Amino acid sequence: MHPSPRDTAVLTIDLDAITANYQLLATTTKGAECAAVVKADAYGLGVERVAPALAASGCKTFFVATIDEGIQLRSILPKPDIHVLNGIMLNTEDDFIAHNLIPVLNSLTQIEDWKRHCGRKEQVFPADIHFDTGMNRLGLTPNERFQLYEQPDLLTGMDIRLCLSHLACADVLDDPMNERQLTNFMEIRRMVPIGRECLANSSGIYLSPPYHLDMVRPGCALYGINPRPEISNPMAQAVHLQGKILQVRDVDSPMSVGYGASHKVMGKGKIATVAVGYADGYLRSLGGNSKVSIGDFKVPVVGRVSMDLITIDVTNVPENTAKPGAFVDVIGPHNPVDVVAKNAGTIGYEILTSLGNRYHRLYVGGKTKLP
Ligand SMILES: *Cc1c(COP(=O)(O)O)cnc(C)c1O
Repeated sequence: MHPSPRDTAVLTIDLDAITANYQLLATTTKGAECAAVVKADAYGLGVERVAPALAASGCKTFFVATIDEGIQLRSILPKPDIHVLNGIMLNTEDDFIAHNLIPVLNSLTQIEDWKRHCGRKEQVFPADIHFDTGMNRLGLTPNERFQLYEQPDLLTGMDIRLCLSHLACADVLDDPMNERQLTNFMEIRRMVPIGRECLANSSGIYLSPPYHLDMVRPGCALYGINPRPEISNPMAQAVHLQGKILQVRDVDSPMSVGYGASHKVMGKGKIATVAVGYADGYLRSLGGNSKVSIGDFKVPVVGRVSMDLITIDVTNVPENTAKPGAFVDVIGPHNPVDVVAKNAGTIGYEILTSLGNRYHRLYVGGKTKLP
């Protein structure tokens, strides 16, 4: 669908960039299966379009965070394995089974619940076990792990698909925590050698091949975020956000721009107002801290970010370029997600998952037929 004249901001999502990223990650991890993490609506980019494109490009295993995300994904894709990272809560067991979802069991209690449920139904249902090796967030604690070693029966009567753990510092290549977690995970695997091994997120893939194990589960890199922040980004950019100029005005000192009169005009100039604001996920911390592009011109965002608007200094841009109705690139080739994130004092993940729902969303590329 093409944008209508009414649309004042357009978010273009490049499905070919996402599948190219998937292929690059799969090639980098040859020998391991490359799954895809599509939680939080595929990091804000729209799971209904992203997941089928990934499936068409060969992805057979998906991870989501919540059971509702799992149910939604199952309604989109009937075939692939869907793992639910947040695990089970009491009385949700039947929902997992009804929708053919695989719970990641994060505690001994969850393991006992699933085992009881399998027993009640007299069926061996699939599940994963998550061992905590340093995040202290989800997964079996060291204490629970030792209990499990003493009662291996806890894992009978269910079909353990994956043993997984999660790296805390994978984006820092030489952080000693990475190796400690891998060693710890391998020790656990000697005691619990069932199911396949899965450890690496996007950054973990780029640590070294020993981290790939049986399966990798990248998220952010699929969507163009740099998995190795210290070196140049190998991933294709998947997001292009454009906002329309609504007004252009002449200003001169001693005027000010925006809320709090935070930007003082120092001389004759031009200010353009663009229809993107913090309600659209253009974070307020970007006010006075970021740039947007118009054609080949890079111009600063001045004054505070409003709910629906930003103001940019277009003093040095020709009048027929910076004019009402013209689009400026807010996120795109000249302003990649990671740069916008850095300017906002955050990470690309937060920029993508904050992208608002007022944008006209345009999907380009993507095979339509499943293989
Ligand atoms: C979100 C998540 C991932 C994906 O991480 P990225 O850094 O986006 O690649 C992998 N594993 C777990 C457990 C996660 O929560």
